[in-house]
Amino acid sequence: MIIKTLAAGLAAALVSAPAWAATPIDAYRLSPVVENGKVTALAITLTLPADADGETRLKLPDAWGGGEKLWRFVKDPVVTGGTLSAPDEKTWVVRSKPGAPLTVRYRVISAYDGEPPVDSVNYGQPIVGPDGFYVIGHTVFVRPEGRDGDRARFTWDQAGSDLVFASDLEPLIKAPGKLDDLSASVAIAYKDLTILEREAAGAPLRLAARGTFAFTPAAFADMAAHTIADSRAFWGDAKEPFLITLSDLNAPKGWTSFRGTGLGDAFAVISTRNVPLDQYKLFLAHEYFHTWNSNRLGGSQDGPQEPAGYWFSEGFTDYYARRLSLRSGFVSLEAFVKDWNEALQAYGLSPFRAAPNATIVARFWSDRTLQKLPYHRGALFAVLMEAQLKAKGGLDPVMLAMRDYAKGRDRAEWNFAAANLFPRIAKARTGIDVTSELDRYVTRGMPIALAPDAFGGCLTVERVTRPKFDRGFDGDASQKTGVITGVLSTAPPTRRACATA
Ligand SMILES: [Zn+2]
Repeated sequence: MIIKTLAAGLAAALVSAPAWAATPIDAYRLSPVVENGKVTALAITLTLPADADGETRLKLPDAWGGGEKLWRFVKDPVVTGGTLSAPDEKTWVVRSKPGAPLTVRYRVISAYDGEPPVDSVNYGQPIVGPDGFYVIGHTVFVRPEGRDGDRARFTWDQAGSDLVFASDLEPLIKAPGKLDDLSASVAIAYKDLTILEREAAGAPLRLAARGTFAFTPAAFADMAAHTIADSRAFWGDAKEPFLITLSDLNAPKGWTSFRGTGLGDAFAVISTRNVPLDQYKLFLAHEYFHTWNSNRLGGSQDGPQEPAGYWFSEGFTDYYARRLSLRSGFVSLEAFVKDWNEALQAYGLSPFRAAPNATIVARFWSDRTLQKLPYHRGALFAVLMEAQLKAKGGLDPVMLAMRDYAKGRDRAEWNFAAANLFPRIAKARTGIDVTSELDRYVTRGMPIALAPDAFGGCLTVERVTRPKFDRGFDGDASQKTGVITGVLSTAPPTRRACATA
């Protein structure tokens, strides 16, 4: 009896050994579903070894970038090598022999009925059909739960279509990468996609553009190469291939909108057709700076606490986008001043100017009037920090030290957010404790007033009082309830930066 049991146990161990011996490789294949010449869905095939206990849990896309319940667009799973059940909407469970090879096929359909609306709060949801698709990895790829260390391989299968494909997943065709690389990705494919290459500070930049704009794709690619070179010069690293996707958006006359999503080795831009090239400059500088802030500076918290760190991830990114762009001549002093003035005015007139950070966390995705606050507050706080740390070299060496410290370390040490790492590294690098300023201006949200010389020699900050447009009610709340609600407060004073030389 005893010998038999041992033998059975040994046999099971031998069968499962290949799955335990090496890091599992999860292979994802993406292809379009084309019916009558139209793209109607995406077909995704995932092959992976089952978990060692024979129960493999797969997580469906859920919430990302303002999109919610993204599992609604993930359909028709079919599994070979095991049996599938779905204990809830966002989980698939596959039961099989331990370590068995599994194949999971599913489809992703469009989140939109036709073109995405121009006033959508986010464009992070899958856009599929009829002429192609534009998707962010977070929103389409199902991931095995508890196996973040798995490696991921990627294949694009154009399935007989004539779609031109571009994605920052292409390196994963040649060599497996991390599952996180798979999620933080963009994939775009249209027949009329234009792909251009540029050299930016020693590494290739690709632009994949689709649509009609007020400029040529070549002019956009040249401009993007300039700002990428600026950021790379500041950080001295990330000389890696980079992809920008640019797709146009239908809009009624007079609408102007452009949005970007930073994805580490790519950024995805979606824009109305009427935006002049110059208007993208600080926007692109901001987006590219996200290559470091926050992923390489300590990260950001997943889930509902993520907006708690936006003062750093967005505000410091705005600050550096303007600063590096002025420094390199990418934007003029006038453009720098104009952008700062817009931010200062929006901050000064914000009804939430004195809101604590907890309000940003609670209402960021539901209240549009609040969404720009962490950008403006964070940028102003960066100006304060530059002044406070000035005698010790200012903010720049602290940012570089954050990058060096965060590299390869377990992010649990600073609770996964660069915003938490910042005061620690500031103290370690300069000896200056900034926690009381953080508590005052970020956590409690006391309004920041800049000193007249906050921007240095040739610029002064002036305090001005502005009348504020007030429709007399809370538009967002009224739209939701159908009843005119909420009276906005009267205008607080704002501050204005202007050129004096
Ligand atoms: Zn941003």
